[in-house]
Amino acid sequence: MTIAVDGFSSGGKSTFARAIARRLGYVFIDSGAMYRAVTLWALRHGLGGNGHGDTLDEKALIRSLGDIRVELRPDGRVWLDRDDVTGAIRSLEVSGLVSRVSSIGAVREHLVALQRAMGREGGVVMDGRDIGTVVFPEADLKIFLTADPAVRARRRYDELRAAGQDVSLDEIERNIRERDHHDQTREISPLRQASDAVVLDNSTMTLAEQMAWVEDRL
Ligand code: C5P
Repeated sequence: MTIAVDGFSSGGKSTFARAIARRLGYVFIDSGAMYRAVTLWALRHGLGGNGHGDTLDEKALIRSLGDIRVELRPDGRVWLDRDDVTGAIRSLEVSGLVSRVSSIGAVREHLVALQRAMGREGGVVMDGRDIGTVVFPEADLKIFLTADPAVRARRRYDELRAAGQDVSLDEIERNIRERDHHDQTREISPLRQASDAVVLDNSTMTLAEQMAWVEDRL
C-alpha cells in the first residue's frame, strides 16, 4: 500500500505517519524534510534569508538543484551533502524561508520526482502537503490531518524548547499562521484536501487514539 498523510504545519503529521509506518513495517518518508534541506542549502550558500523569507536568489537555487544531495536515511536522520542536518532543518530560520522555497515550480518538480522514485515499490507512508493530491494521487489511503493553530504552536514550541532552541510561543504561532496561509494560497500544488481523503482533527487526541482511529482503515 501507499499511504499519504497531508495537513497543516506542526499538526503532528510526521509522528503519526512514522507510527503508521512502524506498525506496518513500511518506509516512512518526511517530504517536508526535503524542502527544509533544500532551504538550508540555500541559506548556507548565501542565496537568501532574513528570517521572513523576503530575500531569495531563486535563479541561483534553481540552477543548483542538481548539486544538492538530500538523503533521508533509514534511521530517520536527514543528510545534506556531507552533514547530518536533522536538527538544523528545524530551526526558525529555515521555517521562515521554506514556504518561499517550496513555492518554486522547479524545486517542486525536482523533489516530487525524487519522492515518486522513493515510493515506486509501495510500502511507504509519506507525509507532506501535496502527497494525496499530486505526488501519489492513486494512494490507497489518504489522511488529511488538522488541528487548532494554537495547539499546533504549543506542540512545536515544546519540541523546539526541548531541543534547546530559544524561541517564543508568539513567534512560532506567527510562523505557523504564515506558513498555513502561504501553503494554501501558493499557485503550484497548494495545500488542500484530496476529495477522497479522510479527515482527522487531532487537536485533543493522543498518538494512541490516532492509531486506534487509523487501525480500521488499514
Ligand atoms: O512538514 P513541514 O512543516 O516540515 O514542511 C515544511 C514546509 O515544506 C511546509 O511549510 C511547506 O511549505 C513545504 N512542503 C511542501 N510540500 C510538501 C511538504 C512540505 O510544500 N509535500
